This record gives sequence, C-alpha cells and structure tokens, in this order.
Amino acid sequence: MARIIPLADARVVRGTAVAVPHAAAPFTPTGTLPDTRGRMLRDLRVSVTDRCNFRCVYCMPKDVYGHDYPFLPHAELLTFEEIARLARIFKAHGVEKIRLTGGEPLLRKNLERLVAMLSDIGGLDLTLTTNGALLTKKARDLKDAGLNRVTVSLDALDDGVFRAMNDVDFPVSRVLDGIDAAAAAGLNPVKINMVIKRGVNDSEILPMARHFRNSGHILRFVEYMDVGHTNGWRMDDVVPSAEVIRIIGREFPLEPIGANYPGEVAERWRYVDAEGADAGEIGLISSVTQAFCKDCTRARLATDGQLYTCLFATHGYDLRTLLRGGSADDQIGNYLATIWSQRADRYSEIRSERTAALPKIEMSYIGG
Ligand code: SF4
Repeated sequence: MARIIPLADARVVRGTAVAVPHAAAPFTPTGTLPDTRGRMLRDLRVSVTDRCNFRCVYCMPKDVYGHDYPFLPHAELLTFEEIARLARIFKAHGVEKIRLTGGEPLLRKNLERLVAMLSDIGGLDLTLTTNGALLTKKARDLKDAGLNRVTVSLDALDDGVFRAMNDVDFPVSRVLDGIDAAAAAGLNPVKINMVIKRGVNDSEILPMARHFRNSGHILRFVEYMDVGHTNGWRMDDVVPSAEVIRIIGREFPLEPIGANYPGEVAERWRYVDAEGADAGEIGLISSVTQAFCKDCTRARLATDGQLYTCLFATHGYDLRTLLRGGSADDQIGNYLATIWSQRADRYSEIRSERTAALPKIEMSYIGG
C-alpha cells in the first residue's frame, strides 16, 4: 500500500489510501452521480504509467526524478483488462469521456490495445494527452484503434528553450512532426497545451501563437500550477491568463467565445481577423487566477489503481485491491459512487502559499 513521504524527502508521493464510510444504501448506476456540489461525474482521466521520457522542470524536475527514481514495478500497474473493467463501471455511473495520460502514456507498450478495448465499450469519447515524442510512430495505430483526439504538450517553439524545459535535450522538430502525424491520422482538432513559467518560456507566447494561428490546431495556454510539491512553485512564476490575452491581443485582436460544453476547462478566445476569415481559436486554462472548480466533473485513476477526486489531492482510494480481491462490479461501483457522492474538492478556490506546500500527489504520477 502506498504511503506519504515526509516533505523533506520528495521522492515518492503517491498518496495514502483512506477508508470510505459506507453509504446507507447501495448505489444503483443511473448514469448521473452528483457530488456534494452537484457536479456530475462525467470525465475520467486514466494514468497508464508513471514513467516519462521527458523531465519537464515544472512536473518532473531532474533533481527529484533522477536515474534511480523508484518508478512503479509493472506488477503494480493496472492491466488493460482491469482498466477496461473499471471504465465500464465508471461509464455506468455517468462517465462519457476518458482521457489517457501518464507520465507519458505512449511509453506503455501496446497502448492501442487498451484504446481498442475502451472503444469496444461504446459511447465513450476517447482522448489522450502526450508530450508528442512518440506520436509520429503511434498516431495512425491509435486512431485505427478508436482514439478520437489528442492533446500535445509543447512549451516552446524555440529549440533551445524547449530543450531546456524538457531537460532531456529533445528537439522541438520531432514534436511538431508528431502533431502533423496526428492531424494526418485524423486525430483532430489537435490541441496543444503550453505551460507558461515566467522568465523561462513566456517569451515564447507570441511565437507559439503566430505558428499555430490559421493551423486548425487549438493552442491552449496553461497557467503554471502548484501540482505535487516538488516543482518549487511560486506565485511570482505564474503568468496570469489575462496577461497572455494582452500580449497576444496587441498583435492579433481576440474575442471571447462560449464554451463547447459545461465544465470545459479551457476558456475559449477567437482571433478576430480583419477580413473576418476564421484564423482559429486559442484556449486559456487558468487554474490559479480563475478557478473552475464549480463545474469540475473530473475523476482521476492512477496507474496503480488509486482513485483521486482532485488534481491537487493528498490522498486516494484504492480500487486495485478491490479488483484483485474478488469484489464484484456492483461492489466496486458502489464504492466509487460513495466516494464521488461525498466529494467536496475545490482546491483552486482555496489555494494559498500554505496549501501549495501540502504533500499533494505528483503530476507525473496522476497525469494532469
Ligand atoms: S482544483 Fe480539483 S476540484 Fe478544482 S478544478 Fe482542479 S481538479 Fe477540479
């Protein structure tokens, strides 16, 4: 069973599994499951590995995630069959969208097999978030297996800045090739997530906007967050979304447009081109300056079977023991429904320098 490590030794924080008080009556899956704030369970993010081939400074800093970092042994990872079984149970309780994450999900061997198993369930919108390093090789197989879309993390266009941010000297050109391969495979629209850290890559905001404007891809600017507690987060390093809009707006006029669906994480803005042609849109993900907890419909399943109800959680709920301990689907369903129905998370609404130091789960483990 995973455990909490004192803050001093930030090597492993995978959260403590806590017991859940049993609900009065079993939950009958009805496809609608509200939490204590009336937020329905709709989105499940599934981390399929805690490993990554990058060491992004805001997520997996090298000084913590060195060569001897104790990643999870394979036997502790949920199997594809276990993930598919849980996906069916979550779907019965209302999940409509599954996002595969990591670490870097494309490092998990034969991932397209899992995509095909999830696609066979039916009625699920299947997406994936990747750093793009392996996308050129994998895009077609993932699409053929049933994946609908991809989101690619790309923090700079300048090769030097990008190599410094991924900290493994990986060239930007290969990620751009991956984006093209995803688009060619039909995994559209490709979304690109750029995490901005002041003084590190904020100079890349305009070059990125210029590059992806008129491309048909959707570039999203992500405020640097205090995920986990190993990235040394400080509020001073955050570039607020309002500032990003001002920077881009000086060159390309923008106007806000409505959300595609309730609970959409990114705030959408459209380029107002002089000729009225549609030059595309951008997104702002502003967890720090404009909390969006009130509409948060996301649950997170870690690769070792821990269930988390918030990205900034300090504890999880162990589903793997139930899976491997002979529990029936309705028992597992009842357990997760009990957890969600008692959920009250709103971390971004209460964030402070004090909460930033809490032993929160690491992004590389839970996958954002
Ligand atoms: S901080 Fe937690 S509750 Fe708020 S939007 Fe993020 S994941 Fe949801």
